[in-house]
Amino acid sequence: MAKRDYYDVLGVKKSASPEELKTAYRKLAVKYHPDKNPGDKNAEDKFKEASEAYGVLSDKSKKDNYDNFGHAAFENGGGGQGGFGGFGGFSGADFSDIFEDFFGDFGGRRSSRSRSSDNRGSDLRYDLSISLEEAYSGKKQNIQFSTSEKCNTCKGNGSKPGHSPDRCTYCGGNGRVRSNQGFFTVQQTCPQCAGSGEEITNPCSDCNGQGNKQTSKKISVTIPKGVDDGTRIRLAGKGEAGTRGGASGDLYLFINVQSHDLFKRSEVNLFFEFPISIADAALGTTIEIPTIDGKKAKIKIPDGTQNGKQFRLKGKGMPFMRRGDFGDLYVQIKTEVPVFLNKEQKDLLEKFRKIDNEKSNPSIKKFFQRAKAFWKS
Ligand SMILES: [Zn+2]
Ligand SMILES: [Zn+2]
Repeated sequence: MAKRDYYDVLGVKKSASPEELKTAYRKLAVKYHPDKNPGDKNAEDKFKEASEAYGVLSDKSKKDNYDNFGHAAFENGGGGQGGFGGFGGFSGADFSDIFEDFFGDFGGRRSSRSRSSDNRGSDLRYDLSISLEEAYSGKKQNIQFSTSEKCNTCKGNGSKPGHSPDRCTYCGGNGRVRSNQGFFTVQQTCPQCAGSGEEITNPCSDCNGQGNKQTSKKISVTIPKGVDDGTRIRLAGKGEAGTRGGASGDLYLFINVQSHDLFKRSEVNLFFEFPISIADAALGTTIEIPTIDGKKAKIKIPDGTQNGKQFRLKGKGMPFMRRGDFGDLYVQIKTEVPVFLNKEQKDLLEKFRKIDNEKSNPSIKKFFQRAKAFWKS
């Protein structure tokens, strides 16, 4: 059979605008859509013919070819003879546009939701607050939370022992129902059985046919060494039980690490300020500092240590999670200018001021040299 002219197929003039083409195609597609004409071979052919014509005429370069050469332009497989459902030869934004307009849910989404994902149990979140010391050493902790578990009486199927579920009367057991939306038939999850295809006719009295029961569950969890504030730990399958054979959800532990009075944390490193007197800073000393493992460490402060000087203690920070090594501890020196001096202290400092020389305060000397140069210029 000779191919009909594409403009004739759509019933438009050769000068038709893209909008007119689209409207014409839309009309035909609605009229001849196979879901509206089940088993009608003639309608299916008409639908294919219109789709092919629109596929070509809605594409600028294909249309130009067709206008110049007619069907001969596509004779070597260029036009696409894909059957219904394939549409392999047709592309272009307009074409997919029109499909979304028309068919909405009908297209690809039908099979994307599987039964098991419908029945999967919910994920749960549990917030756990721990101290920095606990984050350092890791810990085992019992947590208790409310969740739904598989009913022991009916083993989760929802029926009284000795009975089994019947086929769902609403969907006939296939879990999906077809309904008419406008011109088209749309498949949906059965509202009666939520896609399971089964109906509980003798519900288990323990769980009212749900298959699951709300309980308070207690489990022991291991908090690994080195967790940080905001660390999320997933415990697979520890969430709510699925329904009717569905998988359990997951339990997520959200870790909050409390702030510490002494140590500040930045990832695996720890920091704190250590105040010392000006005499210790000037003469040097040895200080004893606390470390996060509960022990002490010694640092030698050399004479002439300036305010703000930082000392690093390698490996005295937090552990890297799931590794054997540790971050560092930084100790920053803060010299404290003495206050509330008694008479003797004042006298000694006055004496110190008189015998103070420029060499002892190189920064002060340098500043005044610059200031003098500035005043002269
Ligand atoms: Zn039960
Ligand atoms: Zn059903």
